[in-house]
Amino acid sequence: MKKEKPVLAVLGGIGSGKTTVSNLLLGEKGWLFSADQEAHLLLETPDVVEKLISFFGKDILSGDGLINRKVLGERVFPDKVGLDYLESILHPLIRKKALEFIEKGQNTHDCTHLLLDIPLLLEKNWRNLCTILVFVKCGDEKRLQRVRGRNWNEGELEIRENAQFPLTTKESISDYIIDNSAELDQTRQQAADLLKLILP
Ligand code: ATP
Repeated sequence: MKKEKPVLAVLGGIGSGKTTVSNLLLGEKGWLFSADQEAHLLLETPDVVEKLISFFGKDILSGDGLINRKVLGERVFPDKVGLDYLESILHPLIRKKALEFIEKGQNTHDCTHLLLDIPLLLEKNWRNLCTILVFVKCGDEKRLQRVRGRNWNEGELEIRENAQFPLTTKESISDYIIDNSAELDQTRQQAADLLKLILP
């Protein structure tokens, strides 16, 4: 019987190093699916544009006829109804793309494993897309220090994190933990060790 290739997803707090670790876990022949990137592409498709205009109005468009993501974001976030609508349009399409991506990776000789970069993977019930959860551990102070360039304060980090499952839950349900609180070299080593463990 053909063995399925591992499908990983990386969890962790804001600024913990999820993107950094995901990139390290790509190794030589891993494939990365980015939900955000897919969402951006979908916002350029005529079908999606039409639906969003019918709900939010024409002023979400910029001069070139494309969706102005900044304006759309301003419309969506203060208003739960708007966010629900946007997600009802985008999420099924992104999920379909993710499934197609996984299927393609599973059937491509040159792909050894897949990585899913999907914000709110647990919160939106997408856990069943992946086979291995990796938690990136990093203390609050260090995370705050690393995202300081974004001009967030401690309160903002907390507000954004309160919209997500508690980190303790994410850690406890994960299959592996990578500690990213120290130098990058140490994280790199842990990622390499993990790949050795899960790849044939
Ligand atoms: P977000 O929650 O915003 O998606 P994230 O969890 O994906 O963030 P990264 O973007 O990977 O986190 O890392 C946050 C910042 O910290 C980046 O600027 C990154 O370069 C830096 N960083 C990550 N790991 C380390 C490390 N071990 N040492 C020093 N800097 C690091």
